[in-house]
Amino acid sequence: MQPPAFYSTNGSAPLVDLRQALLQGQAPDRGLYLPQQFPRLTTAEITGKPYPEIAFELLRRFTAGIVNDATLHALCADAYNLDVPIEHVYDRVHVMRLDRGPTASFKDFAARMMARLIGQFLRETGKTLTILTATSGDTGSAVASAFHGVAGVRVLVLFPIVEVSDRQRKQMTTLRDNIRAIAVDGKFDDCQALVKRAFADPALSRLPLSSANSINIGRLLPQAVYYFHAAARLGEPLVIAVPSGNFGNMMGAVIAREMGLRIKRLVIPVNGNDEFPRFLVTGRYEKIEPSHNCLSNAMNVGHPSNLARLVAMYGGQMDETGRINRAPDMSRMRRDLFSSTVSDDQTRATIQQAWAEHKLLLEPHGAVGWRGFLDYCAAESLGDSPAVVLETAHPAKFPEEIERVLGFSPDVPASLSALDKLPEDFDRMPVDYGQFQKYLLSRYA
Ligand SMILES: *Cc1c(COP(=O)(O)O)cnc(C)c1O
Repeated sequence: MQPPAFYSTNGSAPLVDLRQALLQGQAPDRGLYLPQQFPRLTTAEITGKPYPEIAFELLRRFTAGIVNDATLHALCADAYNLDVPIEHVYDRVHVMRLDRGPTASFKDFAARMMARLIGQFLRETGKTLTILTATSGDTGSAVASAFHGVAGVRVLVLFPIVEVSDRQRKQMTTLRDNIRAIAVDGKFDDCQALVKRAFADPALSRLPLSSANSINIGRLLPQAVYYFHAAARLGEPLVIAVPSGNFGNMMGAVIAREMGLRIKRLVIPVNGNDEFPRFLVTGRYEKIEPSHNCLSNAMNVGHPSNLARLVAMYGGQMDETGRINRAPDMSRMRRDLFSSTVSDDQTRATIQQAWAEHKLLLEPHGAVGWRGFLDYCAAESLGDSPAVVLETAHPAKFPEEIERVLGFSPDVPASLSALDKLPEDFDRMPVDYGQFQKYLLSRYA
């Protein structure tokens, strides 16, 4: 089995193998990596298998010759010692809950596998790495938890002090050991700008810095696994709905489809940041700057970086700024994808309605997904196709909103309630690059 090489969507970087793609994150020409070919996987090969085995079968098609099978098998068992419940709602319609990881969002699935693979590569080379990441909440906590205790890796997370919830903050500030967090007196955009500037700073070039955001192909491959898991249980061709922000999660479904999964329609609802559904209609792409602050806050993205990958899959080319240099096949895209916009009012109404009609408990992101799925059913009949809608976070991450709409607080899973008692430790910093640079040099040089 020959694993695929990876090319850059900007088209002027050399091909790399999975190890290089993972350690680099972004390609040197500022494009994003995609596999040159997609290995095949059929649901017949995974039917009846537990989740870690499905992950192993899928991922080994990309890691052959790079990670030996016995090692990968152990990494999958260790990363995916969690439930992936598929809840029946009505007829052949289901919700898949991707919230049983340690930080209670779907981002655990990718972060846990990527951390283990990077840890494995570092063990082989004896190198060390410092991972810098800016977060509005869920990415930082998933990355911090996933890399906690991984030898050779140090993680520094920057978060906006006023924009993250207490639970999100505690998920980053109570781990200690190789994990450090800085509360920035600013917005998410300020944290992001500090991190970007550090990556481009020649004075820091001797530090082995890397990023762990969703531009890394290592985040996307593990996200193809749960779509196969759903199809193995529910049947094909499947309608899949994915509430989307930076379009990393939906790209997992696109990768699964390229590997052979039969998807009847991929439904990708967004919140008020609706640049994608408008693009799908008009063929003209306009970013939203600055992004709108919506209830489903992990989806407040005005220019999804993974669009460059989606456009490439449809024969087009989009650069990192959002400029389309070659138009993708829009009619094929419209046949495969369905997208709609869900406002905050609709999000709240959907939380209410799903509970009243089906005793289906949704948080804001999952509600955007559910509402988008209902939009799809209204526009085109679902028929008797099986369908799965993703719930991307645990409702207990958003207790205030659920309480306001439904009048009760969701049960808190042990992973989150344990946090309340742990002591926090973090640094604080103004939005000041000079100070950030000094901090990095004194701690990590
Ligand atoms: C990150 C996130 C999303 C959006 O996922 P993308 O891959 O950025 O589209 C949706 N829901 C939750 C809870 C998230 O944390």
